[in-house]
Amino acid sequence: MDLLWPFILSILAGMSTVLGCLGIFIPVKKKDEFITFSISLSLSVMIMVSIFDLIPSSLPNIASTLGKSIVLFILFFSMGVFAVGLLNRCIEKEKGKGSSNLYKLGILSFIALVLHNLPEGILTFMSTYQDFSLGLSLTLAIALHNIPEGISIAVPIYYSTGKVREAIKFTLLSAVAEPLGALLAFIVFKNIITDQMISMFLILVAGIMITLSIEKMLPEALSYKKKKALYLGLIIGIIIVALSLLI
Ligand SMILES: [Zn+2]
Repeated sequence: MDLLWPFILSILAGMSTVLGCLGIFIPVKKKDEFITFSISLSLSVMIMVSIFDLIPSSLPNIASTLGKSIVLFILFFSMGVFAVGLLNRCIEKEKGKGSSNLYKLGILSFIALVLHNLPEGILTFMSTYQDFSLGLSLTLAIALHNIPEGISIAVPIYYSTGKVREAIKFTLLSAVAEPLGALLAFIVFKNIITDQMISMFLILVAGIMITLSIEKMLPEALSYKKKKALYLGLIIGIIIVALSLLI
């Protein structure tokens, strides 16, 4: 019974990503503005979550001394940066030069968010297991930022392919990673996974999300030349993350 709530909460946190799909059903007159807004909202959330949540909460756990922590931080963050380059090359090969940048962006966001949702699911599970009310507030905070994360997959894939099914498929797959992470935590609970390992992985994920935002999402958002929509997305992203940190 003790394991039921941790698992339910991790499912809820993950499934909030799917709510991002609602973005594709909004009837938009100004398509370019909407895509710009969606991408800038997602990149703002990804950068803010990395800087104000993932990194500060992981840094104290990765090593016993500050010096070691900094070295490990640089190491894992750089691995995240290089991972984006590697993923990029794989997608170029797989999808070919023919497919649009917008589509590739959706796929990259998808991969980044699968990697992000896995440890997030483990964290949700473990904290709910230790303390229900802590787990509940963590779930609410995660659910809040997971909605724009879902948008970062659904909107680029829908607007580049025109297929609702494709957009929902990829968003749902990334959402499933969250309870999958929880299941992983349950099966190998305490025996293999340590706080230190989760923290290192989260720093790597922060490296991926920040690099993806700067290298891929920002140029794509700028390419539509819709400044107002860009600024609006950035500001709303900041507000969402600030709210989730308050919870
Ligand atoms: Zn998340």
